[in-house]
Amino acid sequence: MRVGILALQGAFAEHAAMLAGLDAEAVPVRLPAHLEGLDGLILPGGESTSMRRLAGLTGLDSAMRAFGAERPVWGVCAGLILLAACIRDEDPCLGLLDITVERNAYGHQQESFVADLYVSGLEKPGMPLQGVFIRAPRVTRCGGGVQVLAQVQGQPVALRQGHILGSAFHPELTTDNRMHRYFLNMCVAGSAPKETSRDRGHDEVASG
Ligand code: GLN
Repeated sequence: MRVGILALQGAFAEHAAMLAGLDAEAVPVRLPAHLEGLDGLILPGGESTSMRRLAGLTGLDSAMRAFGAERPVWGVCAGLILLAACIRDEDPCLGLLDITVERNAYGHQQESFVADLYVSGLEKPGMPLQGVFIRAPRVTRCGGGVQVLAQVQGQPVALRQGHILGSAFHPELTTDNRMHRYFLNMCVAGSAPKETSRDRGHDEVASG
């Protein structure tokens, strides 16, 4: 697997280290051309305002939007903000995940916290994952197609909509690589040749 990590700013090195431990190739993404041939893309934590400004200078924002229309993308914290369809008091950036977020809604840097999470779909489901929350966005609305994978204080903190994954916390800052494994499985599924109706042995039937 070749997985891109948006490397304009923020915690991209930590994700690269996680992927290396899972035998996946991590590709730093700074320009639209760097998206070519990738099986998936991680948008790391950091500062979403800086990332979107830098991405806008080269057209990387629209290239990532087109990439995410077809391929798996995982947004972490600031990356989740980039994915959101709606951001309170701001224009959306990529709009690939049908949620509304409010930035910094869990408080300042000093109010960072760690919470035990049970994320559905991970290996060893009975073992909590340490969720590290640093100036995390709060998800205040989830669209009908969005699956909530984990909650904290009754609010969604891990979400999935088809091939788009989002987390408000930072798994790359722990030694637990189960979220990265989960995303790599999405990338494997996403890169499989699409099954056609002929493969299934069905005749194409006009409908409507
Ligand atoms: N507060 C940051 C933002 O709004 C996100 C923080 C993070 O990624 N840890 O972009």
